Amino acid sequence: MSSVQIQCTRCKGVFRDRAGRLQDGYSRQCPSCEVVLFFAEDSQHPFVKRAMRDARKVRKEQREAEAVKRAAPEPQATQSRRFSGRTRSMERED
Ligand SMILES: [Zn+2]
Repeated sequence: MSSVQIQCTRCKGVFRDRAGRLQDGYSRQCPSCEVVLFFAEDSQHPFVKRAMRDARKVRKEQREAEAVKRAAPEPQATQSRRFSGRTRSMERED
């Protein structure tokens, strides 16, 4: 699971949390100063906005990666492609 960087609005400390959790309404405690940070889509704080934007981006990339995986050929097909590539290089050596 991918994580994003979060900067604490109080102590400015940087820590990481999972992108999947960082959604509107989420809150978590800063590991350094223990202040509770609230993550809301309408937050005006640049640190919170940045963390939420990064989390959205990571979740989007994950969705796209999963879509590519689903669209990709079966593992068997991948293996035979690798095999034929090896065969071609052997032919060149001959
Ligand atoms: Zn802090």
